[in-house]
Amino acid sequence: MVKVKPGDTVESVIVDGNAVAGLLSDALQSDATLLKLTCGTCGDQSVLAEALVELDEAGAIVRCRSCTHTMLTLLRRPDGVTLRIGTFEMAFPGAAG
Ligand SMILES: [Zn+2]
Repeated sequence: MVKVKPGDTVESVIVDGNAVAGLLSDALQSDATLLKLTCGTCGDQSVLAEALVELDEAGAIVRCRSCTHTMLTLLRRPDGVTLRIGTFEMAFPGAAG
């Protein structure tokens, strides 16, 4: 991997999502309990296993253990699971819903 230092000129290209599919697949196959979460409100850092979770039939709301701000939401849907982080939403078709 190339390290970029302040003052370096960086060129980028615009490509489609296939360019990051492998990297994202690798990231998602890790142990979810060890995902590092940083609260955008208070800055608390923890792993997913330490977060507060409101769990019901519709899904789960993962909250900051320090300030209880919502960090992410998982929704069970008939066709899979949807992960929502802020205004970002990602669907996992076929995931246990
Ligand atoms: Zn917080």
